[in-house]
Amino acid sequence: MSTPSQRIDCLRYALRQEPVDAFLVSDPANVTYLTGFRGDDSYLLLDQDHLFLVTDSRYTEQAAAEAPQCEIVKRDGSIIKETAKAFGRLGAKSLGIEAASMSVSSFRDLAEALEGVEPLPKKGLVEKLREVKDEGEIERIRKAAALADATLTALRGQIVPGMTEREVANRIDFSLREAGARRPSFEPIVAARQRSSLPHAQATDARLAPGDAVLIDWGAERDLYSSDCTRMFFLAAPDARWREVYATVRRAQELAIEAIRAGAGLREVDAVARQHISQAGYGSNFGHGLGHGVGLRVHESPSMNERAEGTLAAGMVVTVEPGIYLPGWGGVRIEDLVVVRQEGAEVLTSLPKELDAVIL
Ligand code: ZN
Ligand code: ZN
Repeated sequence: MSTPSQRIDCLRYALRQEPVDAFLVSDPANVTYLTGFRGDDSYLLLDQDHLFLVTDSRYTEQAAAEAPQCEIVKRDGSIIKETAKAFGRLGAKSLGIEAASMSVSSFRDLAEALEGVEPLPKKGLVEKLREVKDEGEIERIRKAAALADATLTALRGQIVPGMTEREVANRIDFSLREAGARRPSFEPIVAARQRSSLPHAQATDARLAPGDAVLIDWGAERDLYSSDCTRMFFLAAPDARWREVYATVRRAQELAIEAIRAGAGLREVDAVARQHISQAGYGSNFGHGLGHGVGLRVHESPSMNERAEGTLAAGMVVTVEPGIYLPGWGGVRIEDLVVVRQEGAEVLTSLPKELDAVIL
């Protein structure tokens, strides 16, 4: 298990390869990852010798308890002004910032407050460190996935014709929280019939009808970490076309999971699923990437898609979620969450996928 101080060491090492003496972490998930502090609205400012956690009176006590290795800098006015003041204490000449999480207006205010030092936008420095999880993080993701699995297992008997998509989504939301999740890791997707062809459909007031196919994509956030899973459910035995599409997606997912191991190319694993779907004639109906990293955020680096560069490493946690979407007819997606291990994939989500097991 890595400690915040080991993570800081890794970031400092990465910063030595960059043309900056100091770095400002503004993404709340990155601040949490590096310090253990769970609050938000706070920045971590560091160089090779200092760690300043710039926060406000709501959080000073919590920050001191959760991030004892940091010097807590309490701000009274704007976080930007206090950060610039703390930067002055470092004696640094340059400052990198997180391009993906700082607004243009904060960036301009910071540039002004730094008086002569131009902040340098950087991308993905901490996100890169977060890609590989330690066993403590994997355990938390495993528990989030188990909680989400158990919630749907308990609920599936209640999914019946006459309910609206929104009612199903609300029950998932409520049950996840009741089972101990802080919240769903994203708003549950419940999409019946034709709406299942929208990969990110919002649950509507449409009522489930006898025989519907229903796509459910949900996850739990528990102890800071998220899970992500998609299953199809059929309210009656599906017809030949649904069976064919379902079998194609399922096989594509199986092949991709078999291809996962440390060192496998992100693009290559995507291609394994994509080729299977293309050979079945549905290549143009799988419009998104095969999967994404999951951790402190439900969507994080790395991505497995047609343009991805790089390889999987042991300890990464990624989704494997091929889909076939046929506008006006419907769509099928099957998604599981796996840990990349040296020799293969360890699957964290456990709900059955055999067709017979998903007919309600
Ligand atoms: Zn999902
Ligand atoms: Zn996903």
